[in-house]
Amino acid sequence: MNGVGPERLSLNTATVRAQWDLAQCIEGCARHGIGGISPWRDKLHEMGVEAAAKAIRAAGLRVSGLCRGGWFTSTGAVDKNVIEDNRRAVDEAAALEADCLVMVVGGLPEGSRDLPKAWALVEEGLEKTLDYARTQGVKIAIEPLHPMYAADRACVNTLGQALDICDRLGEGIGCAVDVYHVWWDPDLEAQLERAGMARIMAFHLCDWLVPTRDLLNDRGMMGDGVIDLPRLRALVEKNGFEGLNEVEIFSTENWWKRDGDDVLATMVERGRTVC
Ligand code: ZN
Repeated sequence: MNGVGPERLSLNTATVRAQWDLAQCIEGCARHGIGGISPWRDKLHEMGVEAAAKAIRAAGLRVSGLCRGGWFTSTGAVDKNVIEDNRRAVDEAAALEADCLVMVVGGLPEGSRDLPKAWALVEEGLEKTLDYARTQGVKIAIEPLHPMYAADRACVNTLGQALDICDRLGEGIGCAVDVYHVWWDPDLEAQLERAGMARIMAFHLCDWLVPTRDLLNDRGMMGDGVIDLPRLRALVEKNGFEGLNEVEIFSTENWWKRDGDDVLATMVERGRTVC
């Protein structure tokens, strides 16, 4: 079961966000034989959506996702600006022919302790975005984040919780399964079975370092931490996932300080040896 070839990997551009712009990421993927890319919207806007779509197609890369929409809770209401921004994200995902638009849904509104209200805002925002995404043929992928981010990034924190939302909202919405956020969950295996092919829309790879020195920006390269990556990959594949293995590493003190080609070469080597 061990081993993912580079053609089955995708580069989430956050992995080299400090070193490379999107054009360099696209060229880097081509140079290292990496099969796909997942741009962040800031890098995409820098390059321009049309130019990026053209360059990605020319390089023969699959777009495993667009990061990211969401942030439905920030102002305490799902207002016009939030919905407009999410619609733009849908349009960008359509232009890139992305496998999905990844959603980081937002945490508690500033100053609030009302978690049920935050959940309601998230569901309202997802529903409104989904209505539009369906008309554009774009799939929406909720990314449940580790519970440590419930206050400030995403109040959807388990795959089970995300799937409950999907069940209520219907077709065209599923989940981005990021090992960093879900590896600890004793219910993960059952929830992946419940999700199945229709709801598993993305699979994000990195590793959980011990100790973790920063809650956000100290993710490990695959193989440097404690996550049983072959087990998790086998589980998503057993349940029908056929997309790419997207490498997403935020790492201020390590991988963001290295040469971009060194990062991609390591990613390819670890894909083969530990994933
Ligand atoms: Zn992720």
